[in-house]
Parts: sequence; C-alpha cells; structure tokens
Amino acid sequence: MSRIAIIGAGISGLTAAKSLMDSHEITVYEKSETAGGLAQSVKADGCVFHICGANSMKNISENTQKFIEGIIDFGDEIIELKRNSAILFENGEVSKPEFHGMFKKKMTEIEGVPSPIENHIYMFKPEIQRRIIADIFRVKNREKNKRTPKFLATYFKAKFGQTLYNMYFGPYNEKVWHSDLRKIPLRWLEGRLSAPTADQMIFANFNHDKSKFLCEKTFLYDINGGAQRLVNRLVEILGDRLRLNHAVECIEHSGGKWIVDGDKYDQIVYCANLKLLPKILHINEIKPFGSYIDSLKYHGTTSVFCELSKNPYTEIYLPGKEHRAHKIICTGNFADTNNNDTHKMTGTVEFTDYVSEDEIKEELSRMPLNPIYITHRYTEYTHAIQDIDTHETVEKIKSTLRPMGFYMTGLFAEWVQYNVNQAINAAINTVESMHNELNI
Ligand SMILES: Cc1cc2nc3c(=O)[nH]c(=O)nc-3n(C[C@H](O)[C@H](O)[C@H](O)COP(=O)(O)OP(=O)(O)OC[C@H]3O[C@@H](n4cnc5c(N)ncnc54)[C@H](O)[C@@H]3O)c2cc1C
Repeated sequence: MSRIAIIGAGISGLTAAKSLMDSHEITVYEKSETAGGLAQSVKADGCVFHICGANSMKNISENTQKFIEGIIDFGDEIIELKRNSAILFENGEVSKPEFHGMFKKKMTEIEGVPSPIENHIYMFKPEIQRRIIADIFRVKNREKNKRTPKFLATYFKAKFGQTLYNMYFGPYNEKVWHSDLRKIPLRWLEGRLSAPTADQMIFANFNHDKSKFLCEKTFLYDINGGAQRLVNRLVEILGDRLRLNHAVECIEHSGGKWIVDGDKYDQIVYCANLKLLPKILHINEIKPFGSYIDSLKYHGTTSVFCELSKNPYTEIYLPGKEHRAHKIICTGNFADTNNNDTHKMTGTVEFTDYVSEDEIKEELSRMPLNPIYITHRYTEYTHAIQDIDTHETVEKIKSTLRPMGFYMTGLFAEWVQYNVNQAINAAINTVESMHNELNI
C-alpha cells in the first residue's frame, strides 16, 4: 500500500482518487471550497447554472461508462438527448459583407441554420450554394492526397472549403479560442471535430438529411444537475480523504519521498495547473521547462446565466462580430428540473475571457432569445491553448517526472482540451500505468 497525494479535485482528480482509494492511502487536495472544478453547477433562482459549459457527456467510452455506473445509477436519471443546434446568422452579423442576407428565406424566428452547417447548404441563396459546391469539388480532389493538415485553419479549409470557412468555421472558432487558427495544432481537438467526406456532404444535401452531428450527435445528461451529481457522489465516497480549501504551495522530493506542504507521500497524481508547477515543485528536473511553461497561452470564460425565450435548441452558435458572446447553451431544454420545474426557460450565454457586468448587460440587450440576466461567473482558466510544441513538451515533462512517482493527468495538468469523458478516461489510464510501472 502506497501513500498517494492527489492534487486538484476536478473530475480528473476525483476519478484518480476513486480508482486508487481501495488499495492505497490517499489524500486529495483542493484549493477551492468545493470540488468539481470546471464541471460544477450551482443553483441560481432555484434553477441549475453550469458555471462552465453544460458538461453534457459526449462520445462516452466503455471505460467511462463502467466508471460512472460504479458510482451512480445510470437508470432513468441519466438521459440521452439529441443535439439540436443552430448557427445564428443575422443580417450584417457575418464577418464578410458578401454573406449578408444569405438565406433563401427567413429560416426561423432567429434565422438559424441547423448544425452541422455542411449538411444544410441547400438552405443558402443560389450564389452561395454555387460557391460551396465548387469548394466541395476541390475538397473531393484534395481527399485523394492523404496528407492530414497540421493546423486548425488548414483542416477546416481542406474539409469544408473556403466559403464555409469564411462564413462559419473561421469566425466562430476564432471567437471561442481568441487565437490564430493557423497556429493551433489539429491534434489539440483530436476526436472532437466532425470529419465528413465530400461525398457525405453531397449526400446529406441531396436528401435534406436530418441526421444531426456526424460527431457528438447525442449526449448524456444527468437530470439532477448534470455532472455535479457525479461530483457530489465522489465527494461523499472520498469523505475525509478530501481536503478542501487547501491550495498546495510546496512540493519537495527527499529520500525517495514526496513532501506536499509538509506531509510525506510515495507518489503524487497532479491534476491541477501546469503553470503552477515551476513555482511549487522544488526539484531541478522541472527547471529546464520553466520558460516554456511560462509561455503557454490560455483563456478564461464568462458564463452568464439567464432566463431565455422558449426555443427548441440545445445550443445556438454565434459566429458573427455583432455579438461578443459565441454561444447560448439552452440547459433549460435539457431537463425540466434545470428550470426548477417552473415554466421558465433558462440557459447560459458564454463569452471567452473576462466581461464586466455592465458590458454583459449591454450585450444581452442586443442578443436573440431576449436573455434576462440572473447571475454570472468568470473562470480564469478554461481553455488551455496549444502551440505546435505543446504536446511533445508536456510528454517530456511527464516522462521526466513519472519515474520519480509523479504523475500528471487533467485538462490543465496536461494542457489539453479534454471533455469530461476524455478527462475520466485519461485519469483511469494514468492509474492503470501507475499500477503497472510501480507494481503497487
Ligand atoms: C466552457 C467549457 C465548457 C465545457 N463543456 C463541456 C461539455 O459540454 N461536455 C464535456 O464533456 N466537457 C465539457 N467541458 C470540459 C470539462 O469541463 C473538463 O474536461 C473537465 O471538467 C476537466 O476536469 P479536470 O479535473 O481535468 O480539470 P479542472 O476541472 O480544471 O480541475 C482542476 C482542479 O484543480 C484545483 N487546483 C488548482 N490548483 C490547485 C492547487 N494548488 N492545490 C489544490 N487544488 C488545485 C482546481 O481548483 C480544480 O478544482 C467544458 C469546459 C469548459 C471550460
């Protein structure tokens, strides 16, 4: 039996803790007064407010399903919902003036195109359709050469063509990530992007195919507050092994043992933020990586909880420059319990980075679905932005520290763009490799 410290009680740390607790003596350190990290939801006006996204579970793996089933009843309370997303374009809103007034007729009250946009080309005005059709032939030609693009911008252009890139993929993704898509490596969003072939796009448009996302078509959602119920159950299971309000400030290594703020351990599972490591980890091995870690880019999110007009959507994407927000997540449509079983309809308007309350209110006054402000939260670390060297450098850091019994798993620990499913999977795999490598 080992003594193991787990640092950070987000989904990753909680998963690692649960997977280790039966065979080892564990302590989980969490700097906040509550566990759950980015996956938390809170009550506002009696309704459920997800502080970062909805943390609905997509593309759930067998490993994750087994893990969750061991903790909560999958039964009637975890439901499978179909995504019904729309991309909103308003006259004058799309960044390129040539796309203004692009629809044959007004699509809906909010002039949205169902997502995925590439399956609904037939809805655009003939001149735009012609440009996209010409693009799709170029895409088909390019498919013969099997080279995979390295960066997000080249991927979207190669997959969907320049017209759809200019109308949607470029402006929307730049708004979310606040980054130059020509410099973000594709592997950063590996497994998270739709990858239809040109033939599939043509087929979908000929047949007005109603199938939704080719990737992440449905999602699982717990009607008792989403991922928060999983967090609550894990907190209950961990009991006094979890130390809340304890921000780890000093990790040392001496005589083959790790010392975390004065307490001795055999191993560490680090699920907090990579940026912190050079400051709190007092060993020489981390020093060569200090300046690279310092240069890593990230963004935050301002999530604004609102009452919204009734609508049929799960989420609405806003690619245009007219609105600073990029997305409205209609969590009130996920479960009636999210609206406190009232006739209200609630959801979250999402902005990248910090937005003040005055600016939020001004933005809301011009937004579709007539959002009425309830409350908001700003979280500083939500998007870990990679550059072309990030993956390799983080792997080097992990393989330098792993032989010493220091393991890293989690969104900001590995500087990746995990969803909940991927975070749970990665934590389970980390525990498995600890058992294999250490024979513990
Ligand atoms: C806007 C947004 C929307 C999202 N939407 C979805 C979605 O719809 N579906 C989905 O599956 N996923 C979604 N995700 C991703 C999902 O939330 C994350 O993958 C997951 O929550 C990451 O968990 P984690 O434990 O790796 O990291 P975190 O949740 O960041 O946990 C890290 C923990 O470490 C703690 N910590 C930091 N420093 C210290 C310290 N010094 N000492 C002790 N503790 C410390 C932090 O307080 C935190 O609790 C979304 C994410 C964002 C940002």
